[in-house]
Amino acid sequence: MTDTRDTPFADGAAYIDGAFMPVRDARIPITDWGYRRSDVTYDVVGVWNGSFFRLDDHIARFRRSMQALRLDPVEDDARIGAILNTCVRLSGLRNAYVAMDCLRGRPLPGQRFHPASCRNYIAAFAIPWVWVISPEVQARGAHLIIASPLRIPDRSVDPTVKNFHWGDLTQGLFEAGDRGADTCVLLDADGHVTEGAGFNVFAVIAGAVVTPDRGALEGITRASVAELCGDLGLEYCERPVTAQELRGAEEIFLSTTAGGIMPVSRIDDIVLSDDRPGPVSMRLRDLFWAKRAQGWHATPVDYGDAAP
Ligand code: PLP
Repeated sequence: MTDTRDTPFADGAAYIDGAFMPVRDARIPITDWGYRRSDVTYDVVGVWNGSFFRLDDHIARFRRSMQALRLDPVEDDARIGAILNTCVRLSGLRNAYVAMDCLRGRPLPGQRFHPASCRNYIAAFAIPWVWVISPEVQARGAHLIIASPLRIPDRSVDPTVKNFHWGDLTQGLFEAGDRGADTCVLLDADGHVTEGAGFNVFAVIAGAVVTPDRGALEGITRASVAELCGDLGLEYCERPVTAQELRGAEEIFLSTTAGGIMPVSRIDDIVLSDDRPGPVSMRLRDLFWAKRAQGWHATPVDYGDAAP
């Protein structure tokens, strides 16, 4: 494998609309609707110890999101997989955060001001691994708040289509900081738990693992949690979860690509499991990383020297 530490790709590699480049040189045109209108969808897949995790599942969700938004780039799924591999190969990273975006593009000069007139295109990049919640915070259990902004209604923005409509979540993160917490979860207008700033939310209630069935991204890590519950003989259920149920849960944990299964030890003013990660959360988390180390759902990165 090439040593890229002293190359322009050392801090990551990107692809935009047909061309590869160092991530530091990657630029989006200022008039692109992907930027000006948040008219974009994306997905993020992790590379850990030189392998993608659930690569096909991420690309399949990305394709469903593009179709839902009527985005139609030239790249097919196999090409997207090859592009992601090339970004990781150019960066030389063994642990990487790998993003794929599809942007609306720009209405061309003289053409009607309508999204249908835009040429859609793919952007992607691989950068060093990012933790949504750091390992140190995970070890003591994250401190979570239910923030005051409500999640944007799912009839306005479909949360199962991965999106950049993060205004509510970003305000929630500021509120978490102001209240001395690590991160936030948002409710919907009916008082149901939706999701947090980059993760799905789980409650352990009467020994069963429960997660919202609405208002949230259908997380790929959430699908892994369901599989692990099967392995451990734990009941797993997707159903509406109220704020009151979350606050009264035996345990809470979170799941995301950039962090795995992340225990919570406090929610608002409530301390859970003696202020530590709870036993069910830890069994799931330990099994998740043990199976990852054994190649579970892994696609090894091809670090060979072939040209992009
Ligand atoms: N919900 C939101 C809003 C997210 O941004 C993410 C991940 O980025 C998730 C849930 C978790 O999804 P996944 O497990 O597929 O990473």
